[in-house]
Amino acid sequence: MKPISKVAEAVRASTTMAVDSMAKQMKADGLDVIGFGAGEPDFKTPDNINMAAITAISEGKTKYTPAAGIIPLRKAIADQLKTDCGVDYDYTQIVVASGAKHSVYIALAAVTNPGDEIIIAAPFWVSYYEMVKMTGGTPVIIEAGEAQQFKITPQQLEAAITDNTKAMILNNPSNPTGMIYSREELQQLADICVKHDLYIIADEIYYKLVYDGAEFTSVVSLSEDVKERTLLINGVSKSYAMTGWRVGYCAANKQLAKVMANFLSHSTGAPSTISQWAAVEGINGPQEQVEKMRIAFEERRNYIVERMNSIPGVSCIMPNGAFYVMMNIEKLVGRTLGGKLIENDDDFAVAFLEKALVATVPCSGFGVKNFVRWSYATSMENIKSGLDRLEKFLAE
Ligand code: PMP
Ligand code: GLU
Repeated sequence: MKPISKVAEAVRASTTMAVDSMAKQMKADGLDVIGFGAGEPDFKTPDNINMAAITAISEGKTKYTPAAGIIPLRKAIADQLKTDCGVDYDYTQIVVASGAKHSVYIALAAVTNPGDEIIIAAPFWVSYYEMVKMTGGTPVIIEAGEAQQFKITPQQLEAAITDNTKAMILNNPSNPTGMIYSREELQQLADICVKHDLYIIADEIYYKLVYDGAEFTSVVSLSEDVKERTLLINGVSKSYAMTGWRVGYCAANKQLAKVMANFLSHSTGAPSTISQWAAVEGINGPQEQVEKMRIAFEERRNYIVERMNSIPGVSCIMPNGAFYVMMNIEKLVGRTLGGKLIENDDDFAVAFLEKALVATVPCSGFGVKNFVRWSYATSMENIKSGLDRLEKFLAE
C-alpha cells in the first residue's frame, strides 16, 4: 500500500490521555490504582446544568446548529468575557467548538502556513506541540525551568523570534505548572508580540481556578491591539466540571472568527446541540458551585504541596492556579525504586504506577525532564493515600 500521511504518522499519542486510560484499565482489572493522571475535575457536573440538557432534549433541541454555535451561547460567552475579563466582544466574534482542545486546533489552523514557527513555552500541555505539527507549523520551544517559576522571560521570547515566527501560545494559568503570569509580566510578553506582529493563541481555560487571592489578568484586556491579534481560547470543561460535554470556544477578530467558523463547517460542524444548551445554563446560571470547587481545589493544593515537600527525595514549588503540581524527581535519578533503576521521569512514573499503583504523568512529554505531574482534581482522601504511597515507595 502507498505510505500514509507523513504528518499523521508523526503524531504521538497524548501522554495525559494514555496515562488516564492505562490507570482506568488497571482499575477495571481489579487493581487499586489511584489516578493523578488526567486533569479532569472529580466533581459531578452541577445539577442545574444537567437539567438544562434534559430540558433541551425534551424540547426537541436536538438538531444541527450553526457551525459556530447557537447565538444564546455565543452571547452568554461574550457577556461572561465582559464581566470576568472586562473586554467587549460581539457574539459574532465567538466561535464555539467541540472542547477547548478543538478550539486550539482550529485557532492554529486559522493562522498557520506551512513552515510557520509557533512559539511554545516548556513545560507545555502535551497537545500544543502535536497540534502545531498537525496544522503544518514548526514548534519552537522556550524552556522555562523551575528556577524561573516555569515562566518565560521577555528576553527569552525576543531571542526565539525569527522572520518565520507567526504566533506564540500563551497558556495562563498553565497546565502543567499551575503558574500564573502577573499583569506586568503579560504586558511585557504582549508588547513583544505586538512589536513583531505575532498572533497570540491565549489558552485561559483555567482562569477561574486561581488561589491565594491572586488576580487573574486576561491577556486580551491589556489593549485593543493585543486583543485584535489574540485568539482567546476558553471553555466550560474545567470551571463547570463539564469535560465530557465537549464545549470550548475561541474569541477572535471578525476575520479570524469567520475563517474558523468556515473551517468548522467542513470538519465537525457545531458541537452537540444538547451540550451547547447545557453550557448556556453553566455560564448564565448560578455560579456558587464554581466557587465551591475552586475552594476545594485550593485546600487540596495546600495539602499536596506541604506534604510533598516534607517527603525526602522529592519537592515542588507552590502553583497558584489550575490543578496541577510539578514534582521534582531529580534527586531520585540513579536510585533503584520498586526494583527498577530510575534514569528519568518516564522510569519513575512507570515504576510508581506498577509498584505503588499511583498514576502520574511524566513530564518528558511536556518538554521538561525529571518532573512528574500530579493532578489534584481528585478527592482529598485519594490525595492523602497517594502521598502515603509515595512516602512508602521512596522509603523502601
Ligand atoms: N487547554 C488546556 C491547557 C488543557 O489543560 C485542556 C484540558 N484537556 C484543554 C485545553 C482542553 O479542554 P477541553 O476539555 O475543553 O477540550
Ligand atoms: N487537559 C487534561 C490534562 O492535561 C486532560 C487530558 C487531555 O485532554 O490532555 O490532563
